[in-house]
Amino acid sequence: MLGAVLGAVVLGALLLWIARSVIPQTWAWMEDALGHQDAKLAADLGMPDGLAPAEVDGGVEEALTEEQQLALSRSRPNARYETLFGGVPSFRGALLNAGLEDDECAAIERALQHIVDFRRCRPEHRLVVERDEAAGLKRFEYHPSATEFVEVTRGEDGLFRAEQIRVKVERTPIARAASVETSIGDGLAGIGLPAGLATFFVEAFEGQINFALQARKGDVFRIIVDEERVDGAFLRYGRVHAVEYDGQRTGKVQAFYYRAGNTQGQFYDDSGRAMQGGWLRTPLRYDRLSSRYNPRRFHPILKRTVPHLGVDYAASTGTPVWAAAEGRVTFAGRKGPNGNLVVIRHGGGFETAYAHLHRIKGGIRRGTFVKQRELIGFVGSTGRSTGPHLHFGLKKYARALDPLTELNGPGLRMAARDLPSYKDVVTDWQARLSDIANVPKLVEWNGWWWRRFRS
Ligand SMILES: [Zn+2]
Repeated sequence: MLGAVLGAVVLGALLLWIARSVIPQTWAWMEDALGHQDAKLAADLGMPDGLAPAEVDGGVEEALTEEQQLALSRSRPNARYETLFGGVPSFRGALLNAGLEDDECAAIERALQHIVDFRRCRPEHRLVVERDEAAGLKRFEYHPSATEFVEVTRGEDGLFRAEQIRVKVERTPIARAASVETSIGDGLAGIGLPAGLATFFVEAFEGQINFALQARKGDVFRIIVDEERVDGAFLRYGRVHAVEYDGQRTGKVQAFYYRAGNTQGQFYDDSGRAMQGGWLRTPLRYDRLSSRYNPRRFHPILKRTVPHLGVDYAASTGTPVWAAAEGRVTFAGRKGPNGNLVVIRHGGGFETAYAHLHRIKGGIRRGTFVKQRELIGFVGSTGRSTGPHLHFGLKKYARALDPLTELNGPGLRMAARDLPSYKDVVTDWQARLSDIANVPKLVEWNGWWWRRFRS
């Protein structure tokens, strides 16, 4: 290990030394290459005659300002250079900054007028300019993203024509694993993946795992995600194909992303059943579960046994509350100990209730049709309540049920005709998942937790 570090330091120093000795020669070569054309240009730039670059040996760098040097290098024959759009208010401004002449700007704008929406230009967009052997404008590129650009070329007739070009993105599925120390996001970050990929675990296992309650330190997760590259350079992470969570509380669960037939892509279990049921088991982002479903609970305010027919999610006042599934609102208003209450009737005899709301969202009233995850109100502490929380209740044909166990239900199975090809895909991903060799392992050492890679 120490040897490798020392080796890297020595190599770095050597490279630096080589770079330093090469750079002055590069400069010299560029000065030679300036030639006659540039003497004229320097004169155009308002250089005193005696200081024109071709005439004063080695005096170029001192005589020209940085800006003039830049302009010189950009108007050289066969020049090719890149600039950023920058913080200019117009496309013309960016073209002028990129060293184009007024007539060249006009020609480029004409060619692009029906292709580029000039109002959508952003400072980070790239421009590429190419000049021909007579230093005339030959090609221009506008790159609004890493995956597509517009190319403007000068034809035989001298006119510029634009073409939209899609950059080929190479996608390589990579398989990675890590263990949970504090959260999946941290685990992902620890192996160099974006913490945001944790969303896919939450989405895939929404109906099965409540990570806030069930994740434990040392749980292991695996993920297969597309690494997207353009010309070999890393661009971003793309589609998540498979996720696996192997936890002390959860057991081992897997989900695979698939687009069956014309349906929207989604996560399925290995048998082809959709991971997402028709329910959001947790209709809000909560801090903690403050009281579970309990038919024989001792009530903290009433000081006697009162069944708790729902789940209490503690969250700060104003936290958005969503409909757990699509349905029709059957009650929205104040109702005794419930405080501000919304009740929604769903298919299959189900009914959900959201109590103690600080405020019910405008437009949510009896008869309103709501979609899943539609905002219906905000967490509060109205009615008989000791602090801001959402009381979430579930009934089926008027009988109270525990939402945490009842809304566990799996989604629909995919159509039988899609199953064979899905099974093939799953077999591949499962092999990849089980092949992941380097699972960072937590080992206790001197009372501290250290990450160790098992190979
Ligand atoms: Zn409650």
